[in-house]
Order: sequence, then structure tokens, then C-alpha cells
Amino acid sequence: MTAITSNLQAVNHVIAQAAHIAHRRQESIELLAVSKGFSAAAVCEAYQAGQRAFGESYIQEALDKIELLRDLPLQWHFIGPVQSNKTRAIATHFAWVHSVDRLKIAERLSTQRPTSLPPLNVCIQVNVSGEGSKSGVAPDGLVELAQAVSSLPQLKLCGLMAIPAPAEGLEAQRIPFFKLRALMEQINMQGLALDTLSMGMSHDLSAAILEGATIVRVGTAIFGERNYGENQ
Ligand SMILES: *Cc1c(COP(=O)(O)O)cnc(C)c1O
Repeated sequence: MTAITSNLQAVNHVIAQAAHIAHRRQESIELLAVSKGFSAAAVCEAYQAGQRAFGESYIQEALDKIELLRDLPLQWHFIGPVQSNKTRAIATHFAWVHSVDRLKIAERLSTQRPTSLPPLNVCIQVNVSGEGSKSGVAPDGLVELAQAVSSLPQLKLCGLMAIPAPAEGLEAQRIPFFKLRALMEQINMQGLALDTLSMGMSHDLSAAILEGATIVRVGTAIFGERNYGENQ
């Protein structure tokens, strides 16, 4: 068994345990394998171990892998900051975008989504820990943004995403995830029907699952340490 295969088994086991504690079905939590910084060969290994959904943050790196692996039935999710000049490539080559944080970007993604494809699934990224992370819409502006994004024809607004500031310990980690879930409930009370909470990474996925995560985005615990920083 390769390291990636056994890491995937271990991560799926952590998901199963957290789901059990939370009285949730394991199938209600999707594992997104974050392959940024790793090769197409690593993605292929994870595929052979049963993984289908992969997350990427840097568009050129992602397009190279998507092209190399085009014969495999993989689902690609864009999870990095979205720049205006990259929206067309993202709208064309991905099934999901987790990191929409302003209307202009959402409008471009909707306009540029090929009509031959189903609507692009999107999450709005929310800044739930204030200074901690630079990206994401502030909670104040969220309801308005969600309403505008949900009316765009070629997008399907599915839910919310957050990358909280790192915290130690389960209880501290749960706080921002609880906030994100509360924000989704607040939006749904305004008439929307969001059902996706993209939250939890290698170090805090259990806390996220206890607070209702439906997609956990896990890189390091599957593929190992990346040898570049988050801002490349
Ligand atoms: C890199 C990244 C991840 C994965 O982080 P790990 O700590 O390696 O699990 C998850 N989400 C986003 C948005 C990322 O950029």
C-alpha cells in the first residue's frame, strides 16, 4: 500500500469517527483531497485508492493536472483566491468554486460558464475570524451577497466556506465553524436553501465535522507537507 493510500484510509477513519460522535452519517461528509503542490501522479494514486474529488488553488498548476488526467472521472474544485483574469479558465474547467467573495467575480463566472455544462457549484467564502484571514466577505455583507449570487443563471449557490485562523484544541477550533453554520442558517431564513458547509482542513477537520461540515478540504494529511507557502 502506498503512503497516499494509507493516509487516505486514515483520514476517512477520522471522518468516520467524528461523524459517529456527531451522530451524523459518514456519507453526509465529502472528502475533498487538496492536491495543490503535488503532481498528477500523486492525484492518480489517490484516484486508485478511490478518491474522486480534488481541490486546487493555483490555476496554471491545476490546468496542467486537469489536462494530464482528463481521461479519469475526477471532479475538480477551485479553492484558491479568484482573480478576475482567471475566471474564464475556472468557469470552464471546474465543477465547484469554494472561494467566491465578491459579486463581480460571481458575475464573471456565471457569464463565462459554458452553457453546455451544468451550472457551476459555488460557495461564498466568509471571513469568520476577523483579522485572521485576509480573504472572504465580512459577515455583515454576506446576506446581500448570497442573494445576488443566488440569482445568477449559470451558478448554483450551494453554501459557505471558511478558512479560520489556526487554533489549538477542539473547543477553540469549533467556534468559527459554529459561526459559519449559524450564518448559513441565517441566510436560509431569508428564503435561500443552502446545504453546503465547506470547512475543516488537516488540523481541524474533526471540529468542523462536529459543527456540521459537509465538505472537508484535506491536503497535508493525505499528500504530505507541501514544499511551498500558501501565497505562491
Ligand atoms: C491548502 C488548502 C487546504 C488544505 O490544507 P491542509 O492543511 O494541507 O489540509 C484547504 N483549504 C484551502 C482553501 C487551502 O488553500
